[in-house]
Amino acid sequence: MKIVIVGNGVAGIFTAQNIRALDKEVELDIYSQEKYPYYWRIKTPELIPGKITTKDLIVYKEDWYRNNRIDSYLGKRVVEIKPNLKELIIEGEKEPISYDKLVLALGSIPNIPPSIKNAINMVGKGVFTLRSIDDALFIRDFIKEKGVKSAIIIGGGLLGLELARQIKNCNLDTTVVEFFPRLLPRQLDTECGEMLKAEIEKMGINVILGAVTEEILSNGEVEGIRLKDGRIFKTEIVLIQAGIQPTIDIAKKAGINTNRGIIVNQFLETNMEDIFAVGDCIEYNNQIYGIIPACVEQSKILASYILGKDKIEYGGTTPKNTLKIVGINLTSIGQINLPEEESGAWEILKKADKKDCCYQKIVLKDNKLKGAILFGESKNLSFVSKNIDKEIDKAMMKKLLELYIWRCPSCGWEYDEAEMQVLFKDLADDFKCVGCGGPKDEFIKK
Ligand SMILES: Cc1cc2nc3c(=O)[nH]c(=O)nc-3n(C[C@H](O)[C@H](O)[C@H](O)COP(=O)(O)OP(=O)(O)OC[C@H]3O[C@@H](n4cnc5c(N)ncnc54)[C@H](O)[C@@H]3O)c2cc1C
Repeated sequence: MKIVIVGNGVAGIFTAQNIRALDKEVELDIYSQEKYPYYWRIKTPELIPGKITTKDLIVYKEDWYRNNRIDSYLGKRVVEIKPNLKELIIEGEKEPISYDKLVLALGSIPNIPPSIKNAINMVGKGVFTLRSIDDALFIRDFIKEKGVKSAIIIGGGLLGLELARQIKNCNLDTTVVEFFPRLLPRQLDTECGEMLKAEIEKMGINVILGAVTEEILSNGEVEGIRLKDGRIFKTEIVLIQAGIQPTIDIAKKAGINTNRGIIVNQFLETNMEDIFAVGDCIEYNNQIYGIIPACVEQSKILASYILGKDKIEYGGTTPKNTLKIVGINLTSIGQINLPEEESGAWEILKKADKKDCCYQKIVLKDNKLKGAILFGESKNLSFVSKNIDKEIDKAMMKKLLELYIWRCPSCGWEYDEAEMQVLFKDLADDFKCVGCGGPKDEFIKK
């Protein structure tokens, strides 16, 4: 049997690796339009200030493919799938490639909001997105060659902030412009968003929130941006990190069901026989994931299923994101805001210590751990990661968070930090016991 994988990112590579672990004989070919062997996509922003080189990003070198008997065809773009003939067409090549089973691991591309006037026609001429090694090298060279002094990053999500940090490392005047009223709108709540903003600003990065970019101003070269409220910010380069679009073009053209992504079932099968899809390019249950844990989880299920071994059903992946900025410790997992339509069984345990810049929020439903934000403190990360969706002991969780009950010795009235969501030490010095009016400094930690 010959399995052909299109895509050499984490989803394609992990699918190949898992297939090979289960079957030593099957023929495995990987095609990729990029010319590099499997590399660490998430570290590409670090290429811009030149802290690392392309070589430092390569995870699996050519010998890995050889040792695993995987034939890799790099710099080869698949332009057409012919499902009836079970063939692929490569750009510029006449001979079709045959397959018995086909895995599409096509990834995604950065989204450029069409509402931003001038953005698309200025791409490469002062407007950039970042997805690949080549994108990063292009941005690095542009900054050097043009002597760029200031940059605006549109998008205050994880990628936008990580990119902003690397741009700041190039000594550029750096500004992040975010559409939502807080940074990391999908991963944080308002309170933690404010704490993060303060930390980002301390790094010398300007942050503008609730800002709708309407136009890239240019006279052939980028001059700045104009917001919907009329404000103008001057800059020489604009980097757009505003979400992703799954790559679906060749699948759609072949008649495979697509929506925002390539539609798959619980076994990562498309609607076409012997064609599967995995990673950023898929849409499962109306959901696009765009994170590595989803690629890894899906690749295991697919490897087993495609070989006719265990039929494990994919049920979605709990989102987990860590901000990779040196000096900032931040992870967000699962559901971090209570769903508005539901109430009742949901509960929050929260410790916000603004002075020490530490915020820990645990979201529970029916005593099960549903989500967490851990900012400025990572000692509970392992516990939270292992226990997501599991029942946990609330008293033990409070202990882990170091949330205490403070008792008034005169009347026995108790201040529970978990319930009040404000630390006892953060209450004003002249706080009085609600029971008897006794002074704050006489309270005893239970
Ligand atoms: C800067 C950055 C930072 C990130 N940080 C994180 C993080 O901290 N945590 C996290 O979980 N995720 C992070 N992500 C997202 C993560 O990188 C993606 O979820 C992951 O790379 C998706 O893997 P994939 O294999 O599905 O797609 P990709 O890695 O995009 O690979 C797609 C592959 O398909 C190939 N391809 C596409 N079309 C064709 C074609 N027609 N013919 C041939 N080949 C084709 C491409 O060449 C490529 O090899 C980050 C992404 C970026 C860009």
